[in-house]
Amino acid sequence: MNRYHPASDPDFMPKNMLQNVQWGKFEAILRHTYDNVPWYQLRMKEKGLQPSDIRSLDDIHKLPFVSKSDLRDTYPYGMFAVPLNEIVRFHASSGTTGKPVVVSYTKDDLDVWGEVIVRALACYGVHEGDILQNAYGYGLFTGGLGLHFAEQLGVTVVPISGGNTERQVMIMQDFGVTAVSCTPSYFLHIMDKAEEMGIAIKELPIRVGIFGAEPWTVPMRKNIEAGTGIRAYDIYGLTEIIGPGVGAECHCQNGLHIFEDHFYPEIVDKDTLEPLPDGRYGELVFTTLSKRAMPMIRFRTRDITKIFTEKCPCGRTIRRIERISHRSDDMFIIRGVNVFPGQIESALLAVEGTLPHYRIILTREHDLDNVEVQVELRAEQFDDTIRSLETFQRAIQKQIENTVGIRVKATLVQQGTIPRSEGKSQRVIDRREL
Ligand code: ADP
Ligand code: ZN
Repeated sequence: MNRYHPASDPDFMPKNMLQNVQWGKFEAILRHTYDNVPWYQLRMKEKGLQPSDIRSLDDIHKLPFVSKSDLRDTYPYGMFAVPLNEIVRFHASSGTTGKPVVVSYTKDDLDVWGEVIVRALACYGVHEGDILQNAYGYGLFTGGLGLHFAEQLGVTVVPISGGNTERQVMIMQDFGVTAVSCTPSYFLHIMDKAEEMGIAIKELPIRVGIFGAEPWTVPMRKNIEAGTGIRAYDIYGLTEIIGPGVGAECHCQNGLHIFEDHFYPEIVDKDTLEPLPDGRYGELVFTTLSKRAMPMIRFRTRDITKIFTEKCPCGRTIRRIERISHRSDDMFIIRGVNVFPGQIESALLAVEGTLPHYRIILTREHDLDNVEVQVELRAEQFDDTIRSLETFQRAIQKQIENTVGIRVKATLVQQGTIPRSEGKSQRVIDRREL
């Protein structure tokens, strides 16, 4: 069993010691990748580079990037650095269009994944004796089998996967579940279903929620915590790097610690791709330091964040990133203003009485973009006078206009109208045919 001992946890190493560990691992992984993946060798040769030209971690920026499209171009096995017989597991990204991105793991790679999940759980105060309802999807998606490593900490895992929400609520109650993992949007669905079934999550022994795989905002966290009495923690990860467990919030709930002895983070300017110092916002790029089956050197995540410069009060010395509020692909432009769905979510939830279910519909009429924000209201609110509904609608529109800078039309809809998701939610529907 992979017992958790803070004393042997590199999360608490002094900084220069960590850098030595990172450099030692990086040198070995770069050589391994160069020798075994022709794609990398070609890309490095195009830049006139050999592994020996990289003399310290500061030289890492000389190396070429890898993007999701490179992984699609080399589908399915082109990025593997070990023979197939050493591979014990495949996963694939949840991408809905075109070919998926396939990733692979050796037995040792799975141990690395288990280790970071165990560390993440330690961050959340989950321990042996806890019962974890793992409602992330099991299968090619990394969420389910990723969180399943909780077993290694001695946690009892309920491998329920996503879906069948009524049964989720029943099991949460009957099994005495103390922690739950799923996407934040699916947990909202579970909360609604519990309410519908007359079950108060607040009165159940559940303490911890482990939510990730999609962006969610601080007001959303407050909404979940106030409605259920649990602590809602963020977990970050991506298929190409390992799956969930690349980073996790600690009890301070202020940024996610990156397990940087396994995943080396960089922030680069999203347009020029030049490296940026800690503290500046840009695109997050990762180099895996441990994985052997499919190492990633300078993988562009498209996620926008910054690395904190301040130490975390929890005592961990590994660096933190700010919660991912958006990925660059999610941005939409409305009448010249760049908008991210998370900004609309924060504005909406700042208006007293809104439910956290919404969607954003973009249309185009006579070359003009229109934004409709559909928001759910409780059934009893619909019994209010038309006037009070109009006041409410105006309050939402004003809040969005003041904070996001765009005019929208807010449409109030009955509770339960907006489709619920069991995994990653789709908040934006773009009908502009751009
Ligand atoms: P896909 O790229 O097909 O969605 P993944 O399941 O690998 O497949 O998704 C990884 C992406 O999910 C990340 O790059 C990030 O955009 C998003 N993500 C994962 N965890 C979080 C989180 N805690 N907060 C915000 N976004 C997240
Ligand atoms: Zn911390």
